[in-house]
Amino acid sequence: MHIFQEIRPLKAFLEQIRKGSGTIGFVPTMGALHPGHISLIQASQKDNHKTICSIYVNPAQFNNAADLAKYPRTLERDLELLRQQGCDAVFCPSNAEMYATDSILKFDFGYLNTEMEGRYRPGHFSGVALVVSKLFNIVQPDVAYFGQKDFQQFKIIERLVSELKFEIALKCMPIVRESDGLAMSSRNARLSKENRTKAAQLYQALLFAKEGLSKNKSMADIRSQVESQFNSVGGIQLEYLELVDSTNLLPLENVGDKSILLIAAYVGEVRLIDNLLLT
Ligand code: AMP
Repeated sequence: MHIFQEIRPLKAFLEQIRKGSGTIGFVPTMGALHPGHISLIQASQKDNHKTICSIYVNPAQFNNAADLAKYPRTLERDLELLRQQGCDAVFCPSNAEMYATDSILKFDFGYLNTEMEGRYRPGHFSGVALVVSKLFNIVQPDVAYFGQKDFQQFKIIERLVSELKFEIALKCMPIVRESDGLAMSSRNARLSKENRTKAAQLYQALLFAKEGLSKNKSMADIRSQVESQFNSVGGIQLEYLELVDSTNLLPLENVGDKSILLIAAYVGEVRLIDNLLLT
């Protein structure tokens, strides 16, 4: 497996692949890899000649300095996992390599980033769009793989690719879950044993909401019942629970053709997100 910390040698390596008419699949990550990330690597390996993974904790997308400082970093273990998986190359740049100068470029995705993650994490999607644009320009993959886990992020990246005319196909892969339904996340490693058990409540809330909607309950009622449930368990703070149209993220009152439920909550000090497609 080739490991690159600098852009120039990575580009030279990718150029050779393109010359041989090989397709390049790309999986951007922030490391602390788990089976959810690995499922993206496997999807890329199935579709492409070569698979490149990036591991970079992007400071520009953290609106909370403590969250950035505490983000799990397990590079050696990650590289070993990728090696075992047969990944062809990894790009793990330094901050200096990615941000040689302080960036003043900002992205505004209008209604796509004013609600949910955009509302609770101001500046987050601008930082995501900035790093993804840089990575896409560097790697120029044929296909890039993302998880449904970060659904709003996927919609933002879809828009970025379409508006900036990146010639990159995007794939959104299903959420990989723990046996109790908790969506796998690098942040789960920060949960205490007690909070790890409580964290399954997010997925339970999504199932409860789905069931409620099928019985014509309103989202307002469902939300207040979920809040009561979280209060009775204790230590879980709901940020949002929304029913939206999965094509444009606009809020819905009732389940439509392409609906998705999205949730965010703090379990102790750890902020978790999850979602459930209803179609
Ligand atoms: P991250 O390292 O958290 O930035 O995630 C890198 C990629 O892995 C993103 O496209 C995520 O949506 C995806 N991902 C994270 N968790 C999961 C999961 N449980 N199942 C599938 N994909 C995931």
